[in-house]
Amino acid sequence: MYNWKSLLVCTALIISPALHANSLSECYPDWQQKARSLGLSKDITESVIPGLEHLPRVLELDRRQPEFTVSFSSYFNTRVSEQRIERGRALIEEHRSLLNRLTQEYGVPAQYLIAFWGLETNYGGYKGKMSTLNALATLACDPRRKDFFTAQLFDAFSMLEELKLEPSVMVGSWAGAVGHTQFMPGNYRRFAVDGDGDGKIDLWNSIPDALTSAANFLNNLGWHTGERWGREVRLPENFPYLELVEQRKRSLSEWQQLGLTTAQGNKLPAEDMQATLVLPAGHTGPAFLVYRNFNVIMGWNRSEFYALSVGHLADRINGAGRLAVEPPEQPRLSIAQVQVLQERLKELGLMDGEVDGILGPATRQSIRAFQQQQGIIPDGFPHPSLFKALNISQADSGEPVH
Ligand code: CA
Repeated sequence: MYNWKSLLVCTALIISPALHANSLSECYPDWQQKARSLGLSKDITESVIPGLEHLPRVLELDRRQPEFTVSFSSYFNTRVSEQRIERGRALIEEHRSLLNRLTQEYGVPAQYLIAFWGLETNYGGYKGKMSTLNALATLACDPRRKDFFTAQLFDAFSMLEELKLEPSVMVGSWAGAVGHTQFMPGNYRRFAVDGDGDGKIDLWNSIPDALTSAANFLNNLGWHTGERWGREVRLPENFPYLELVEQRKRSLSEWQQLGLTTAQGNKLPAEDMQATLVLPAGHTGPAFLVYRNFNVIMGWNRSEFYALSVGHLADRINGAGRLAVEPPEQPRLSIAQVQVLQERLKELGLMDGEVDGILGPATRQSIRAFQQQQGIIPDGFPHPSLFKALNISQADSGEPVH
């Protein structure tokens, strides 16, 4: 006679490996133990943790390798659009009294707060809908960045308790950032503030809470009151790229002596302030000198393109005009193209590093060395002319260069 119990066991054995691969259950015991040792509530250990679900999409997004390098123009133009500038100007008027108070209290001008809000979620237009707890749990149970995401997951647990939140209201990006200004749970707990005085800190629904929290975060990152983020500049003819792009941090007065002016051609202030030259699109694109607050912006998101976009969006919201030199349209480079470029530079004995398809500092330095040999402006930037000079054909790289 057929024993239904053995059938059940067999079925369980057959399906369990598949379930196992897609579940977080192997991580529950460690998390529960840690939660107990931290004194988190029974609700967290016995209900929230065993209810956490694996989100395959989160790992897909985490593993997604960029196929192309993003050009500065495509990054910048989508983030600093006319529509976003207009909306930012309207919002600065709408929230004027709050923003004035925040500038007084935290030292960060209104246009920057609005610019961060614009870049992070298009002023609250897309805050993300993924379960924050499940997203963080998926990443915390994955070996790649386990420690970071475990810490964020436990900050999220603490948020549930401290803010008396239901797990279902905690939604945001696939990487666990939440609310109007996309704070990670760790930053939420450390820097989020109740801006509207209703006794709750709610970055999902309260604009005053989100803007006050952004101001507090920037203040804590070390915002220098009364200083700009940087400015667009004009480089002189015969600018010594090779020397200066490698050593790009100097005082403003040194830059002035080297012939740099404002974008409009006016004298730079002759001050001791340190300024770093940034050429996000090479010598054919805009040039910027960036100051200490640029590093503060990078403390929010470690990307030069991001920081330039925040800075310029803030300027535009504040009434400034367009860049004097528009970012030139540049072809996207595929990883394969960059690899071909790197191989060719190695053959020429100009590069020691790994052929990884990434335009890092070592590759840029090798490009500069080649450009100098060829009498091309040595800005370290992969212009189409570089590919031509290296005899890399479209067939080699698999993608049209122009
Ligand atoms: Ca509030």
